[in-house]
Amino acid sequence: MDNKSNKAISRRDFLKIAGASGLATTGLTACGTSGKQDSTAGTTSLPSTGQMTYRTNPTTGDKVSLLGFGMMRLPSVGGRSAREGNEEIDQNMVNKLVDYALEHGVNYFDTSPAYCRGGSERATGIALSRHPRDKYFIATKLSNFAPSTWTREGSIAMYQNSLKQLQTNYIDYLLLHGIGMGNDGMKEFEARYMDNGILEFLLEERRAGRIRNLGFSYHGDIRVFDYLLSRHDYYKWDFVQIQLNYLDWKYAKQINPRNTDAEYLYNELAKRNIPAIIMEPLLGGRLSNVPDSIVARLKQREPERSVASWAFRFAGSFPGVLTVLSGMTRMEHLQDNLATYSPLKPLTDEEFDFLQQTATQMMQFETIPCNDCKYCMPCPYGIDIPALLLHYNKCLNEGNLIEDPDAEGYRQARRIYLIGYDRSVPRLRQADHCIGCNQCSPHCPQGINIPNELHRIAHYVDNLKQEKGSGERRRQRERRRQGQQA
Ligand code: SF4
Ligand code: SF4
Repeated sequence: MDNKSNKAISRRDFLKIAGASGLATTGLTACGTSGKQDSTAGTTSLPSTGQMTYRTNPTTGDKVSLLGFGMMRLPSVGGRSAREGNEEIDQNMVNKLVDYALEHGVNYFDTSPAYCRGGSERATGIALSRHPRDKYFIATKLSNFAPSTWTREGSIAMYQNSLKQLQTNYIDYLLLHGIGMGNDGMKEFEARYMDNGILEFLLEERRAGRIRNLGFSYHGDIRVFDYLLSRHDYYKWDFVQIQLNYLDWKYAKQINPRNTDAEYLYNELAKRNIPAIIMEPLLGGRLSNVPDSIVARLKQREPERSVASWAFRFAGSFPGVLTVLSGMTRMEHLQDNLATYSPLKPLTDEEFDFLQQTATQMMQFETIPCNDCKYCMPCPYGIDIPALLLHYNKCLNEGNLIEDPDAEGYRQARRIYLIGYDRSVPRLRQADHCIGCNQCSPHCPQGINIPNELHRIAHYVDNLKQEKGSGERRRQRERRRQGQQA
């Protein structure tokens, strides 16, 4: 099916459609009173309690906070995200983050058996079960990615383990996880949910009340998304989770031909009055780590606001959006996002256009579209794929990727690249150790040809290193050039 054919509705029209038939926006009063100053405030003014923006689920009437807590980047005892390395989840810190989030009106917590190397559900269950069950909504997923879990028994065991880890006897929002992924998204979807009867099992669980809302998270093969929506009369999806941000709105397909523009995905849901839950509002951090020229452009408009807040305002401004997920490892991330949504200041049409122009400008930078999802990991040869790609993008964004040794700023850029490279990735996990087996690329939802990119990075780093101690070669080049000019 041609995705573009359904894009005829203008933004204003669909806002009207979604606004008229869809979710209600309310400024509910959450617990607590006014906000107070905190020295860990980050880059944006501090959030006030009692001002969170809420959206109403049209099926169940749930009042869901516009900020949803994604439990996929929980802090580890070493202070990093527990997605990385082998450190344990810092449960005390998770408890503090959850307490602060609840106190400031966040009531949607999204986890999965696959997050934090399998530890997220347990940590989420421990933190949330310290609070009354009716004060929050739990979202989790049937993450039966491995073929060993495709059997009916394997999938049901995973679902039952989720209830146990989360210390609950019902799930508020249950998702079929990562629909459309894999080399043949349709075939994989059928193996994971249809052939084994698991989708029917989940429908039965919803009828029994152990699942309050049933939906799916979508990545990749658009045929699966279209198929599931075409059967909406039967499945009655309560919500669908999609990737939406101001770059993917019109450029997702251009960035990766396997992806679909968020404009299409959102409009298809809005037409059917299905609430959208938003993942990747920051595109894996790419929209908070933008090139310097883009930072200047955004800061000129809103000096007090963080760069990330623009992306959150974009995602939250669509009325068909129930909640926007953010994986918050540190308190300042949480506070920054709370400030953006307490309450939301929706984008004006002019600001919407401004962000679309910003996206067009960002497309001029040839960054690698890695969003740090880590689905390609672990590499059997120990390569830290996302760290290598993100360091490359960071240097590119900051103007520290200069190939020509004669170009202005080369020496400083070279130094910054090499020092940062060794700091962010241990030697044995660097790009030159990739053997090109390509076991990673099929798992990448962004369709990145990982061995090719790593080969390119290894080659670039090699060139930078060879320049070391080659001052004489450079001086010779300089003398030759001066001779030619004379
Ligand atoms: S291609 Fe390279 S990065 Fe990918 S799995 Fe093989 S060794 Fe690891
Ligand atoms: S390379 Fe692909 S799979 Fe790996 S972290 Fe980046 S986007 Fe995710």
